[in-house]
Amino acid sequence: MHAPLAATSVPLAPRMARIAASPTSVLRARARTLRAAGRDVIELSSGDLDFPTPPHVLAAAAEAAARGETRYTNADGTPELKDAVRAALRRHNGLDFTREEVIVSAGSAQAMFGAFYATLAPGYTVVVPTPCWMPYVEQVRLAYGKPVLLPCLQNNGFKLRPEELAVALTERTRWLVINNPVNPTGAVYSADELSAIAAALRAHPHVWVLADGLYEHIVFDGRRAPTLAEVAPDLRARTLTVSGVAKSYAMMGWRIGYAAGPAALIAEMTKLQSLTTGCASSVGQAAALAALTGPQDVLAERAGVLAERRDAFVAMINACDGLSCTPPAGTFYLLASCAGVIGKRTPEGRALASDRDFAAYLLDSADIAVFPGADLGLSPTIRMNFANPLPVLAEAGRRIKSACAALA
Ligand code: PMP
Repeated sequence: MHAPLAATSVPLAPRMARIAASPTSVLRARARTLRAAGRDVIELSSGDLDFPTPPHVLAAAAEAAARGETRYTNADGTPELKDAVRAALRRHNGLDFTREEVIVSAGSAQAMFGAFYATLAPGYTVVVPTPCWMPYVEQVRLAYGKPVLLPCLQNNGFKLRPEELAVALTERTRWLVINNPVNPTGAVYSADELSAIAAALRAHPHVWVLADGLYEHIVFDGRRAPTLAEVAPDLRARTLTVSGVAKSYAMMGWRIGYAAGPAALIAEMTKLQSLTTGCASSVGQAAALAALTGPQDVLAERAGVLAERRDAFVAMINACDGLSCTPPAGTFYLLASCAGVIGKRTPEGRALASDRDFAAYLLDSADIAVFPGADLGLSPTIRMNFANPLPVLAEAGRRIKSACAALA
């Protein structure tokens, strides 16, 4: 009999020391622990929407389960869902893909990891514009690649400048990640802006593009968030177009995402899925099929509701001493500068040296969970999720305002 191993003595792979858990999942666990302890925590740190999954999607999932759609599916997804994904890409982006060019994954996160894992090796780099969704960076490391962070400044609307991209691309670059709309800034690239990025990529035929459009339907004020393949058809042979149902249809926990790109890459990603998850959830796939093929009015309706909440919340945050923000053009995140609170002291006399300190202060003193910009690649900022009912946002705004006012 072996004695049980102490947690600290588990012999870990060296790569585990180079990667961090998704900061969202860490914050989620902490906020939920506090809530379980009876604290009335308002969670503005998550990537969830408060909307329910649409009722016809729930009904389709229940019917599929009752019909016996509870077996393994093909590793790359059911043919029906793959066809629905193809139809969605045609409808929304004017892009045609064959079945062999599409894969369904357990969340878009799995599709992206598969793409990196299938193509990266030590010595290869991936250019990631920041601030960003940090799992790109950790996934690249996990796949033995090296992330190269390219800061996007507020004076350019937090968007990548093509001339700066041109300088960052080298012989070693394997991928450029381009997220549109951008988590966490809410920036939305126009077709012209993407065309200028495509122009910079033409001089580097060995660089692939990972176009993450997970928030594509959450855009405000009549905007549209195009994807790179539609503005640069000549780059299609080296573009992976990624999206999913999580944010558009409020289906975060169903874990269904998808990717479309060259069949040779999709085949390698399929191989990886066959060896790791086997396939995405069969019932989740039936739900995603209903979401993509059912009525689509929910997309614009919900974007309209989110736009109203954005306007209200932006005003509340700009009324807080030390915080400032501009309205995001898409997503449901507000990235606010907290430069004005850095260096101040809490009522207990603790100096706030960073956005992480400020986030800890908000959680401890106001029961507000926010996402510190240090974990997104831009400090000092905090990211707040406004996919919450207006009364919740109003209460959050009130608490944040009084927490800011209590600083000296
Ligand atoms: N891309 C971005 C920009 C995200 O914010 C997220 C999740 N919040 C994902 C991808 C992954 O989403 P999922 O795996 O749920 O499709």
